Amino acid sequence: MKFRIDEKYLLNCFERLVHTPSPVGYGVKVNPVLEEMASQLGFGITYDRRGTGYLTVEGEDNSKTVLLSAHWDTLGMVVRRIDADGKIRVRSLGGMQYISAEGSSVTVHTRDGREYTGLLACQSHSTHVFENARTLERSDDTMIVLLDEDIHSKEDVQKMGIRHGDVISVEPCCEFTKNGYIKSRFIDDKAAIACVFAMLKYLRENDLKPAFRTMIAFTFAEEIGLGGPWVPPEVSEYVAIDIGLIGPDNDGHERCVTICAKDRKAPYTYDLVTRLINYAEKAECDYAVDIFFRYSTDASTALTCSNNISAAAFGMPVYCSHGRERTHTLSLLNTTNLMLAYVLNI
Ligand SMILES: [Zn+2]
Repeated sequence: MKFRIDEKYLLNCFERLVHTPSPVGYGVKVNPVLEEMASQLGFGITYDRRGTGYLTVEGEDNSKTVLLSAHWDTLGMVVRRIDADGKIRVRSLGGMQYISAEGSSVTVHTRDGREYTGLLACQSHSTHVFENARTLERSDDTMIVLLDEDIHSKEDVQKMGIRHGDVISVEPCCEFTKNGYIKSRFIDDKAAIACVFAMLKYLRENDLKPAFRTMIAFTFAEEIGLGGPWVPPEVSEYVAIDIGLIGPDNDGHERCVTICAKDRKAPYTYDLVTRLINYAEKAECDYAVDIFFRYSTDASTALTCSNNISAAAFGMPVYCSHGRERTHTLSLLNTTNLMLAYVLNI
């Protein structure tokens, strides 16, 4: 890899971000963290009315503006109903994999800032009690949150300030192995944000300017397809940094960066994808080019929502996407290298 990235800083950023709850649309906690991380590098963040944050880096040539996006939103849930006995029923935010999240600790975030932990369980929660505990489909209709409180009724829960629509986050279960593996929920897409900050730190420390004005968009609702429909009009290229997939059709693996040539929504802009492949070569990245079937990004959403842009996407391949994912530190370093090659137009 061409650029020597501060790996420790990158992983520290990831760890801090992944432990900051931010289900779809819930930026209350993560936006201040992003602002602090940005200000430590001398940058500010501004917001559009929808909730996307923008960090702008002036380029050598500011007549053209390019954009890199990384979404802070994660899968999660909201309070749907409180049963008479005080169990909380849920609706998912994004494509929750309940089968992976069952048994996790969760936190209910009330609108007035209180937080209560609980256990995410299936209503048929025990094989010793329920005939269908193994077979009942895990879904919005069968999952419950058992609050870690002495409650017996709906009124008990309401007295705690919990209301319909309150956001529920899931513990990340983040673990780093000595040989570089990262096992965690929400590598999608907190790892991409960490790569963004590692890139910014590299630019600052080496006194480098991007070739063109470069906006970083921290989007708020990629998991439900809302991150990319509106793009600032000055942006001519929209590159989403998002996870890659690992599977029988894919060359991507946990140590590389994958450039996505096509996803469920659209092929990415031909010339831009070709340029990214060339950047990956020049930056000596371990990289793969793949197409993804059940997958889209803020960039392909931006493209299909009639924005006047070229679009592309690349990022770190993970096992078990939308579950407890796994990737390797090398993949984050390869992703950051490709980002630097792209913004510096090497
Ligand atoms: Zn993602």
